[in-house]
Amino acid sequence: MAQVSEFRSRGPVIVEAATPPICSSCGKLISPDEKATKFVCPNCGVVVIWRCSKCRELSNPYKCPNCWFEGP
Ligand SMILES: [Zn+2]
Ligand SMILES: [Zn+2]
Repeated sequence: MAQVSEFRSRGPVIVEAATPPICSSCGKLISPDEKATKFVCPNCGVVVIWRCSKCRELSNPYKCPNCWFEGP
């Protein structure tokens, strides 16, 4: 008897992954209060790319871990 689901359906959906998001550009952990951005890979559309506020500011390139697509 598994009783695992404990979802709260209230308010906006907050992504709660088991692992914290990591910046795809610099590999830094992204804190929840940081103004990071995320988007799916424009090439394969599978991987969610995260970019920390700093890399956004510097427009550092990112690399998709799935298809190795590199983009600004
Ligand atoms: Zn970064
Ligand atoms: Zn990709």
